[in-house]
Amino acid sequence: MTASPRIAHWISNRPATGGTRHQSVTNPATGQISGEVVLADRATVDQAVAAAQAAFPAWSELPPLRRARHLMRFLELMNQRKDDLARLITQEHGKVFTDAQGEVARGIDILEFACGAPELLKGDFSDQVSTGIDNWTLRQPLGVVAGITPFNFPVMVPMWMYPLALACGNTFVLKPSPTDPSAPLLMAELLREAGVPDGVFNVVQGDKEAVDALIEHPDVRALSFVGSTPIANYIYETGAHHGKRVQALGGAKNHMVILPDADLDKAVDALVGAAYGSAGERCMAISVAVLVGNAADRILPALIERTRTLKVLDGMNLDAEMGPIVTAAAHQRISGYIDAGVAEGARLLVDGRGFDGARAGAGCEKGFWMGGTLFDQVTPDMRIYREEIFGPVLCCVRAPDLDAAIALINAHEFGNGTSCFTRDGHAAREFARRIQVGMVGINVPIPVPMAWQGFGGWKKSLFGDMHAYGPEGVRFYTRQKSVMQRWPESIAGGGDFVMPTSQ
Ligand code: NAD
Repeated sequence: MTASPRIAHWISNRPATGGTRHQSVTNPATGQISGEVVLADRATVDQAVAAAQAAFPAWSELPPLRRARHLMRFLELMNQRKDDLARLITQEHGKVFTDAQGEVARGIDILEFACGAPELLKGDFSDQVSTGIDNWTLRQPLGVVAGITPFNFPVMVPMWMYPLALACGNTFVLKPSPTDPSAPLLMAELLREAGVPDGVFNVVQGDKEAVDALIEHPDVRALSFVGSTPIANYIYETGAHHGKRVQALGGAKNHMVILPDADLDKAVDALVGAAYGSAGERCMAISVAVLVGNAADRILPALIERTRTLKVLDGMNLDAEMGPIVTAAAHQRISGYIDAGVAEGARLLVDGRGFDGARAGAGCEKGFWMGGTLFDQVTPDMRIYREEIFGPVLCCVRAPDLDAAIALINAHEFGNGTSCFTRDGHAAREFARRIQVGMVGINVPIPVPMAWQGFGGWKKSLFGDMHAYGPEGVRFYTRQKSVMQRWPESIAGGGDFVMPTSQ
């Protein structure tokens, strides 16, 4: 028997060890351990932050165009190696390969946006604010910034953060999820290959110990977090206590409203993709279908059929629609929710428990497999409605009309994404305007905003006031400085003891 490969940190453009604890990395399709990731201790985090701090002066002084050129070389390498990244994602996360390719592509979108750094960092200029005086603003980087990311998008979510952070002149320490730590390391290697100087981008693998070390480190100026709501809340509060700028994106419970006038065949297609794609392990997955009026009777037969016949296969099989659940623990948690739904009186139309891994492909017998689960007659008091399950479980609730559907969604504690399927323009407009949710789709089930728009939920789906990437991402990773200037020719003689006004 050979020892599993060690998955290390990345500090100053080199692999680094550091930390005596480790965690197994598993291929969820087979249940086989593929590696052991080292969990950083405080000393290792200190080393990574020191490397980033040392790299900051030169990197931040580099003209934005030259920083962008490094990113452009990195973009070429990312495009060359995108399938290698997708393969690593499928091996450690389980999502189907084509979905992993999509994840990498959406990450690359942000990188392309970040390559416009010189434009993004342009300031404002006001000529002649008083006679002979001009006032302008510029945006300057913060210093060392850190990103703490979840298991479900090991490439895309880090790319919501570091391309813009680097483009703006910061240096970066990434703390990825220990569940799927390999793809971030490949990105680090590609950044080195693109000529990004030592210490500008660092990766510390780890868990709470590493996160706490980052939160408490005086040289870390800002924290970007994406993960579950309790941890997002913790990072936000603790980060603020330690004087840091924080954006912390949390969990979700995304509703898709189907009005009776919608194209119901297309709505079913959208619903199964959005509920079961990536095994429901997406923060923008649809986990609640709100069936309005008689839409329920007309939609449910097709929905049941599509859920029963989902192609649940090894993610490397190009026919797969859904892969395995990420870990044995997640599998157990999701099964527990299905048990709870039954116990609470929801109607179980399709039961994903007991799915035999052998059906998913050769070698999958010991993987973490589950089929799609569909509940009807779910009510707002049930745990399966209130809590984020983060698995392939779709709950149908009924609403008499659009007003009731909007009220239901607005009463939920999460507000990440939502969508409405209809042919009625007025209903769609009302929905988009009145819904208390950060990202809205009209006949679009998963409305993930584009790179130049910015991503963020409302309510308990986001702590902080800045969305990820887009213009708010630029603002998050920079500070505004205002400069007011005049030259001796325009300075009046004598002391000025009153509040200066425009003269
Ligand atoms: P998680 O909260 O368990 O972990 C996220 C990160 O926090 C990881 O890096 C993890 O190592 C770290 N962490 C975990 N426990 C910690 C603790 N006690 N103290 C400090 N750090 C800790 O989330 P996950 O299971 O990896 O990811 C799934 C969650 O992420 C879901 O809730 C999902 O909705 C959410 N998510 C949200 C978005 C969004 O944009 N809002 C996007 C993707 C995922």
